[in-house]
Amino acid sequence: MNPIALSKWIPNLTHPLVIAGPCSAENEEQMLITAKALKEIELVRIFRAGIWKPRTRPNSFEGVGAMGLAWLETVKKETGLLTTVEVANAEHVELALKHNVDILWIGARTSVNPFSVQEIADALRGVGIPVMVKNPINADLALWIGALERFANSGINKLVAIHRGFSTYEQTHYRNQPNWKIPIELKRLFPNLPIICDPSHIAGKRDLVEKVCQKAMDVDFDGLMVETHFDPSIALSDAAQQVTPQRLDEILNNLQYRTPFSSDRHFDAELDRLRSKIDRIDREIIDALQMRMEIVEGIGEAKIKGQVTPLQMERMQAMFNMRLQWGKDAKLREEYIKELYGVIHNESLKKQTDMMNLHKDGIKK
Ligand code: PEP
Ligand code: MN
Repeated sequence: MNPIALSKWIPNLTHPLVIAGPCSAENEEQMLITAKALKEIELVRIFRAGIWKPRTRPNSFEGVGAMGLAWLETVKKETGLLTTVEVANAEHVELALKHNVDILWIGARTSVNPFSVQEIADALRGVGIPVMVKNPINADLALWIGALERFANSGINKLVAIHRGFSTYEQTHYRNQPNWKIPIELKRLFPNLPIICDPSHIAGKRDLVEKVCQKAMDVDFDGLMVETHFDPSIALSDAAQQVTPQRLDEILNNLQYRTPFSSDRHFDAELDRLRSKIDRIDREIIDALQMRMEIVEGIGEAKIKGQVTPLQMERMQAMFNMRLQWGKDAKLREEYIKELYGVIHNESLKKQTDMMNLHKDGIKK
């Protein structure tokens, strides 16, 4: 995958890149009123609208279909905004290209399916239109990467990943769990791949949208895709999570934009000093873990001689309680200590079990 920078294909790119527009195209008037208000917001560069809507249950509004493409063309003509639409099969692609849509996006329910993704990627071979790929609805990074790779293999290098959260069975205060470590890992693996957050589908309700936008800026995402409707209360889909153009403007003004680098030399020096302290401490932690493991092996040998099991529930309980208390005294979160000692203890157990198996094999021979 060899994606090119947003600045190479978005004219006069500003940060963050903002994509806004309704969840669904409903009628031409709704599109134009919303788009004209969005055009006044400097950071908004791309107008979105879904026309084929993948709905969870049948008999809900499934989009206006191809006629919405003409409205998107009008929006483009009247506002100069770039346009984007969701496509889910080769026929959608053909229609969108015919109506000069600038950018295509792949929805979360499509990126889960390699057959659909491949069909779309094949339809796009040699076309070169930018493609934005939403994460699959389940928390599967490989599937997301796979979808992006299918487009890359079709010769598309104007690629963008969109993080829209992951569906879980448990109800939480988000509609889709953000699971930030997944998009962050994607960024680590593909540092050149632009990544945009869709706070609307993560939040599910408009009051949470700003908070999710801020988080996306704090982890250095390239942009935001925010569902916007001139009157969300009458929206035919995702009414609870859409914001008005005015509210979007307010959100963008409230956001704190921090950069990963600072031009302040004192700041850099201070950061370097603190980071080298962290490096030293981590080195000490590793040395301590090594010493700990040597003792674990000693205990393992004693247990072999004494013919006792590696796992001794009572000792384990007592050990955990002691560490939880130490953690509490040190003002470290209980979950953190639990998780940490879960990992450390498991590794010790594995070591002793391996030692016992080796010993058993030795006896057999
Ligand atoms: C949408 O953007 O309106 C949409 C259907 O999103 P997702 O594919 O993320 O559910
Ligand atoms: Mn939506």
